[in-house]
Amino acid sequence: MDERAMQRIGIMGGTFDPIHYGHLMIAENAREQFGLEKVLFIPTGHSPHKQEQDVTSPFHRCQMVSLAIEDNSSFLLDRIEVDSPDISYTYLTLEKIGEYYKNTELFFILGADSLFDFESWKEPEAILKHCSVLAAYRNHQKQEKFFQRIAFLNQKYQEKFFPLNTPNLEVSSQDIRNRLQSGRTIRYLVPRKVEEYIRTYHLYEGEGSEDETGRNRKKIEKGIG
Ligand code: ATP
Repeated sequence: MDERAMQRIGIMGGTFDPIHYGHLMIAENAREQFGLEKVLFIPTGHSPHKQEQDVTSPFHRCQMVSLAIEDNSSFLLDRIEVDSPDISYTYLTLEKIGEYYKNTELFFILGADSLFDFESWKEPEAILKHCSVLAAYRNHQKQEKFFQRIAFLNQKYQEKFFPLNTPNLEVSSQDIRNRLQSGRTIRYLVPRKVEEYIRTYHLYEGEGSEDETGRNRKKIEKGIG
């Protein structure tokens, strides 16, 4: 098969609690640099890494992703993980996507923190059977360490890890939740419609029962999700 005839699809997996410009920025740069026809945004369902009660309902997270990507025709929301009752393992998600999208090369897009965790993910070899990995630098580590990490993984597994050339936006979902909790601005960190959604449904507010990160479980649970 002529490899050039294959379409290229990016996979942007995340909790997206909430989605922010850091996610959108790395997905858009991956699309441009690797000639991706589409990027699928896949919110986690039952995450093996995060406690379920600490995560906003899949309904709200999907709604926020939809609003964030609605003006980019290359970006799509994929509910494959949130609609499944099973634990969301990346290798299984990629296997299913590979069955659905034939004649397609998959590129998994992630930030540097996930790159450093990669070896602890379930079945890393199986993940790499299905995709290449595009990694964006993120402030947590020194840039030199980031490139060393990519070289190490390329040696340990196959030559399947590529750095993304993208501006480094120091934004995280945790920071956004903290800001909302303490009544600070989130403007310019998330798309305007996402902010409006958060305000409408009182997500991440401080009143009511709070967990240790100050997130308002009661209001979230009372929401539509
Ligand atoms: P939290 O703060 O709750 O841990 P997060 O901001 O890291 O969340 P996730 O939904 O967990 O967001 O991230 C999905 C993917 O996007 C991960 O691979 C993560 O490394 C990457 N990512 C998130 N924010 C950025 C950013 N600002 N720059 C580069 N990559 C990012």
